[in-house]
Amino acid sequence: MHLKTLTLRGFKSFASATTLSFEPGITCVVGPNGSGKSNVVDALSWVMGEQGAKSLRGGKMEDVIFAGTSGRPPLGRAEVALTIDNTDGALPIEYTEVTISRTLFRSGGSEYAINGSGCRLLDIQELLSDSGIGREMHVVVGQGQLDAVLRATPEDRRGFVEEAAGVLKHRKRKEKALRK
Ligand code: ATP
Ligand code: MG
Repeated sequence: MHLKTLTLRGFKSFASATTLSFEPGITCVVGPNGSGKSNVVDALSWVMGEQGAKSLRGGKMEDVIFAGTSGRPPLGRAEVALTIDNTDGALPIEYTEVTISRTLFRSGGSEYAINGSGCRLLDIQELLSDSGIGREMHVVVGQGQLDAVLRATPEDRRGFVEEAAGVLKHRKRKEKALRK
């Protein structure tokens, strides 16, 4: 199994549809500061179901939608599609090629699809969960993040682990419920 293509449309700085192709092995993305390298990595996390705006280097989820430049108006939606080569059957689905996609509308709605058929976020998480790129193994370490982890207080460090494990939102809900 390997990632084949990643298509961004209206995602962060990628206003026009842009497709990146990957070969098996290591891929390097190079470019000047601010050219969108980290945005590509954010798109990869996002299409695989990332729910934390902070992990995507934004304040709120809407920040992933192209916000406009002096010469180009903002867009109403962000779309990312990831095509995975599944000839080895690592993903539990009867297709040799699997495309997962995610769309977020500025008006608030969001859509997920597997091979063009609408699905729930949970379906994508389940599809990826045993493959090594799902919630458990999909590890994106951002610029400066290692430093932040090393310098963090024990409380912050616990927060990183909880966010990675996806329990932070449940703890927040519990705290809110206990306050009532
Ligand atoms: P560096 O080498 O400094 O790490 P980089 O190539 O990783 O740079 P990114 O962080 O991917 O750069 O891209 C930053 C650019 O993306 C900034 O110019 C920022 O304005 C732009 N950007 C981020 N979000 C949006 C958005 N929603 N709409 C338009 N542009 C955006
Ligand atoms: Mg960067």
